[in-house]
Formats: sequence, structure tokens, C-alpha cells
Amino acid sequence: MDDITDGGFAMTKFIFVTGGVVSGLGKGITSASLGMLMKARGFRTTNIKIDPYLNYDAGTMNPYQHGEVFVLDDGGEVDLDLGNYERFLDTSLSFDHNITTGKVYSAVIEKERRGEYLGATVQVIPHVTNEIKDRIRRIARDYDVVVVEIGGTVGDIESMPFLEAARQMQLEEGGDNVAFVHVTYVPKLRVVGEQKTKPTQHSVKELRSLGIQPDVIVARSEDPLEESARRKISLFTNVPDEAVISAHDVEDTYEVPIMLEREGLARYLTGRLNLPEREPDLDDWRGMVEKYKSLEDTVEIAVVGKYVKLADSYLSIKEALKHSSVASDVKVKIRWVEAEDLERGGFSLLEGVDGIIVPGGFGARGTEGKMMAIRYARENDLPFLGICFGFQLTVVEFARNVLGLKGAHSTEIDPQTPYPVVDLMPEQRDLDRLGGTMRLGAYPVHVKPNTLARKLYGREIVYERHRHRWEVNPDYIERFEKAGLVFSGIAGDDERRMEILELPGHRYFIATQFHPEFKSRPMNPAPVFRGLVKAAKERKYGS
Ligand code: GLN
Repeated sequence: MDDITDGGFAMTKFIFVTGGVVSGLGKGITSASLGMLMKARGFRTTNIKIDPYLNYDAGTMNPYQHGEVFVLDDGGEVDLDLGNYERFLDTSLSFDHNITTGKVYSAVIEKERRGEYLGATVQVIPHVTNEIKDRIRRIARDYDVVVVEIGGTVGDIESMPFLEAARQMQLEEGGDNVAFVHVTYVPKLRVVGEQKTKPTQHSVKELRSLGIQPDVIVARSEDPLEESARRKISLFTNVPDEAVISAHDVEDTYEVPIMLEREGLARYLTGRLNLPEREPDLDDWRGMVEKYKSLEDTVEIAVVGKYVKLADSYLSIKEALKHSSVASDVKVKIRWVEAEDLERGGFSLLEGVDGIIVPGGFGARGTEGKMMAIRYARENDLPFLGICFGFQLTVVEFARNVLGLKGAHSTEIDPQTPYPVVDLMPEQRDLDRLGGTMRLGAYPVHVKPNTLARKLYGREIVYERHRHRWEVNPDYIERFEKAGLVFSGIAGDDERRMEILELPGHRYFIATQFHPEFKSRPMNPAPVFRGLVKAAKERKYGS
């Protein structure tokens, strides 16, 4: 899977990343950065995320709970941290890289039903912990270094079996092959202006009571860690001074690996794990970050959605815009617009933007507002990108306002609509459950020649990631095309499915049934995002 073939280490090295004090400290970014710093040293490296919830996967979860649901090539619906890993390590992961309590328990129960435990009483230790270790080791086979992030906070009931499995692995794999990194929070009290280490001390105490002595403390703080705080943490947690890493706030998450490299995180861990010390190759990454920070021109892009109050719900879109920003030499400022506010406040909320994105989504709330935004972009020659539900609503908007099909809709929102321009495929109509019934993951898309899409992709067949049930109704396609809408991408595995639409004559108007944001990478932005940012820039500054 990875392209670096150095290898030659007898044993895989495991680095477990745990969290203390509070959640939301950026453990995911720390883990992604650590993986990247190891990969940049030429070690074959991958990351695993453990989510200690009982859900089997992230598929049925509302974005308000954990942020966006990320989708992998193999169709796995996973935690958004896997998106961070893919972007930081520039790699593609599989569903197995997200281990949940739900997956572990259902495997254990299935084995019990098959009689595989030979009459034993099935218990958390050893059966659940063995299942966890097996899953981690199965992935480890092809790698020199595996970074395993354990979600949640040490002390949570849910994460106990995972911490226990990690503890056992240190014994079984040998002390030189397993290390623990504990990410904690060091608050600064305004009144005394002093960094407080007590919460860190307590959470390390908790970790040690589970039999785990951390090798490294990553101290998250607003400002760089003061020397006195570092010494105190070292003394009370039994971690050497140099292994107490300051991870203070930085402007952008892509700066984190550079900061952690400066702080010596990976250098310390290679020593601790008996790996050869090497200089990491971070030139390209540094160049990218420097360029991003130096951009002066700015365009503003509105993202019109229904989960905009939690920016993590659209994390990959945010990132894809950043990647396109670097590629197009212009900073992108995002204006988050709640679709329902648009319904109430009219078009004024979109005034002054240089481009519009209508992202994916589910359910009725905000759909009319999203269509207002689409219409506004279409009629004002404003660069526009619609994604998944945004693609489907573009079709509905066009049906209503160009074809004059009053009441046209997607049957997801209005099952009684007289014009079901977006509908389920006949074979999909008997749905009785929500989990496991979607078209998920990477499928081939045929991109038609002489179209905007073809110009953007430069290729006839592309693989993009999907997450949807509904489709453009094939019965209406001819009418759409007669009225000037072009379907420039068709599913490679099923000609009935429309994948990309565009509007010739418009400055930039494109929508995709798939989610291009999931494959966007810092050095390799998703073409349709890059095109949007470029068009917005040209509109504002000229070409
Ligand atoms: N709700 C739509 C469908 O299921 C779109 C899904 C999405 O935007 N991810 O087809």
C-alpha cells in the first residue's frame, strides 16, 4: 500500500497514543503528525484509530456527535481522524484501520456462536482483549511502525479493554517495540498567569494505575510550555525532560508536524524504540505550509449546509479548500451559511461571496435554502460546486426553475412529488433499515470528452468515493439535456447513474454525485475544488 520499501526491522514498532484530562485536544492531529514524521524518516508507517463506542461504524452517526463521517475507498464509513491520517501520510487506508467496540464485540459474539471458544466462558479478558490485539497485529504485518490512537479519555469505562490490550502488547512484543504517548492539557489560569500541571499529573496517575507508564507526554497548551511546567511534569510523571513535548496552539493544523519535529517527538521515540535515527524529509510539506501562510489575495466561498455550527461536520471540505488554496495561490475564507437562515433572511447572506458550495446532507431541513443558494449561483454566474445532496438539489432546482416542473423534488424529501427527478433505483426500493444500504466507497466514473469535468480531471476514468442512496431519475435525463444541462460523468459500473453535471456557458457550475473532498490531499487537491477556487479567483482578480 505504501511506497516506501525500506523495512528490515525484525519487529513492528507500536506507538499507542492516549488522551487525558479532556477530549478534543487534537489527539488525532498529533497521531497523524507522528505517523507522518515516521513515514518521512523512511519507515513504512500506518495509523489505526480506536473508537471505544458500541456503534459498529460511524455510518449511522449524526455529524453533530463526532463531526463528519469520512468515507474510504473500500466503502468504510469511519471517524474523521482517518481523513487526517490519509491527508498527513498521503496514503489510502482501509476499514480495518478503524477499530470500534461494536466491531470487536460483534466478532467475539460471532465466534462464540460458531463454537470457536470451545466451551470457555467468554470474557473481556482474554477474549475481547485478544480480539483487539489480533486486529492491531493483522494490520501491523506490512509495516515498520504503527501508530494506534485510542479515542476517548483515560478513565472512561469504554476505553478500558483497549488500554488493557495495549498494556498486554507491551509485555508480549517487548518493551523496545511498544511505546506510549499521552496527550494532556496544560491550562493557564488567567488570574495567576501560570501554566497548571496538576490535571496532567492526575491523568498520568490514572494511566499508571492501569499498568501503563507513558514514555512521552505531549502537553497541549495555548502558549509554549514553560520550563518550570516541563520540569514539574517530568518529575511527577517519571518521564524524562526531553520527552515532555510542548504542543502549543498554532495557526493551522498543517503546522503541527513541523512543530512536533522541532520539539523532538519523533527523534525521542525512534531512540526509545531502537529505530535508526534518520533526518526526516519534510521539504515539500514545509514548502506547502510556508506558501499557505504567505498567501495574500483572498476569495470568500460560502458553504451552505445544515451542520455549519460545528465546522468539523464539513472537515474534508474545509481541507480540500485549503489544498486548492495553495494550488491556486489564493487564500480561501469560508463563509458558513446555515441553509435555514437563508430561507428566512433571503439572499443577503450570500452577498459579496466569490463562490458557493452546497455540500452533502440528509433529510428535509434546509433543502429550500440550499436550492436558493444554487439558484443564486446559477443566475448570477457565480462559481458553484454541488456535492452529493448538493448535486441532487441542483437537479431539483433546475427542474423547477428551468424546466418549469412545479413541485419537482427528490423522493427522499417528498415521496408524493409529481416530478420525482431524484429517486431510488427500482432495485433499492425495499429498504427496511438504514445501516448498510448505501452506495459506498470508490467507484469508477466515466468523464465525457470536451467537458469542463474532463478538462479538470484530464482523464477518462476516475475513481471517486460515494455515500448516497438516491440517484438522478433516468426518465428525466433527456429533458434536462435538451434544456442545456450536461451530464459529463456517468458511473463506470452502471450507465443509469449520473455522476457529474455541468452548465456550459456558466463561468463555473459543476456538481458531483460523489464526494471529491475525501480524496483531496495537501499536495494533490481534488480537481473540482481546485477549479472552483481558480474560477473564484479569476472572477475577483481577473485571469
Ligand atoms: N441524502 C442523499 C442520498 O442519500 C445524499 C447523501 C449525501 O449527500 N451524502 O442520496
